[in-house]
Amino acid sequence: MEKKDYYDTLGVSKTATVKEIKKAYRELVKTYHPDKNKEEGAEGKFKQIQEAYEILSDEQKRKAYDQFGHAGTQGFGGFGQGGTSYYTQDFGDLGDIFEQFFGNFGANTDFGSSPFSRARSRTSKTRGNDIEANIRLEFLEAVFGVEKVINYRRKIKCNDCNATGAKNGISKRACPQCQGSGVVRQIQNTFIGRIQTQSVCPSCKGNGEIIDEKCPTCNANGYNEKVDEFKIKIPEGIPDQVTLRFQQKGDAGANGGEYGDLYVRIEVKPHDELERRGNDIYTEKTIDVVTATLGGELKINTVHGEVTMKIPQGTQPGKIFKLSNKGAPRFKQGGNADQYVKINIEIPTRLNSEQTKIWEQLREL
Ligand SMILES: [Zn+2]
Ligand SMILES: [Zn+2]
Repeated sequence: MEKKDYYDTLGVSKTATVKEIKKAYRELVKTYHPDKNKEEGAEGKFKQIQEAYEILSDEQKRKAYDQFGHAGTQGFGGFGQGGTSYYTQDFGDLGDIFEQFFGNFGANTDFGSSPFSRARSRTSKTRGNDIEANIRLEFLEAVFGVEKVINYRRKIKCNDCNATGAKNGISKRACPQCQGSGVVRQIQNTFIGRIQTQSVCPSCKGNGEIIDEKCPTCNANGYNEKVDEFKIKIPEGIPDQVTLRFQQKGDAGANGGEYGDLYVRIEVKPHDELERRGNDIYTEKTIDVVTATLGGELKINTVHGEVTMKIPQGTQPGKIFKLSNKGAPRFKQGGNADQYVKINIEIPTRLNSEQTKIWEQLREL
C-alpha cells in the first residue's frame, strides 16, 4: 500500500512548527478516534494520523523523513502494527500529556546484549527493564482525576553496597587477569600466521572488577527485588487508553545501572448514561410527546450531579440542547466543557379509549 505523505495526513505545511503539528494532531484525533468514529476507514485513518504524528513531532525522525521520505523512518521501530498509542507524563509534573509520544516499548532495554559490547562498555552499566502496569478507572475518576496506589514487584538498588554488589561498597578491585579491561587476548601461531583472538575475561565475566567479599544483602546483585508501593496522581480529564510513563520507576539495572521506566496504561470504564468526547459529555433522553409539544422540565445527570433542564414548547425529535459548563473539567485550561443532551420523543403505541378520544379531538382542531 502506498504510504501517504505525513504532512498531508496531518494537513500541515512542510514548514509547520511543532506547535502547529500538535494542534492539527489533536483536532484529527478528536474526529477519528475509533472509540468515537465507527465509520468505515476511520480506524485506518486514525493509525495513519498517529504514525504521522509520531514521526513529525520528533525532531530527529522528522529530519530523517524530510531527507529520505518514508524510507528514512524505517529504523525507528515505527508505529502502526500494534496500534497502541503511548503518551507520556513525568511524575510530579502534570504537564502536557501530549508532549511526548512513544511508538515502541522499551527501546533502550537490550543494551549491551553481546558479551563484547558489554566488555567494552563495562563502565556504562546496563539499564534496568521497563515495567508495565494497568489501572482501570471509574468514569468519574477519570473526569475529575484521582490518586491511585499501585503495588508492584521491582528491583531496587541495594543501599547497603551502594548498588556495587561488594560488601559495604568498598571491597572491589581491578581484575588481575584482564587488568580491568574485561577482555583477554590470546595470540596463536597458525599456518597462515599469528592470529590474535579476544574473548570475555573468565575471571570477572567482562566486568573488569573482582568482588572479594559479596554484599550479603543483595548477594552481589547490586539490587534487591521487592514489592514497591507507588502513588500515582492521575490528572483530571485523562483520556481512555493512554499510557503514562514514570521515569526511573522500573527495575534497577545490573552493575548499578540506571532504573528503567514504569508504564501505566489507563483504562476508563464506560458510564451507563454519559459518554465523554474530549471533555464534552454526551447523553440522550427520551421524553413523551406531550412534554415535547407543551414543554416542561427534565432531570439530567451530569458529572457534577443532577440538574433540571427546561424543555421548550414544540421540541422536535433529535434536537440537541447544550448545558454550558456542565461537561468535564478542561484539562489544563480551567473551567468545564459542556454537556450535550439529545432528545428522543416517544410516540404512544397503544391508546385507551379516553386517550383516543382526546387525540381525536386534537385532530378536529
Ligand atoms: Zn577480568
Ligand atoms: Zn548489596
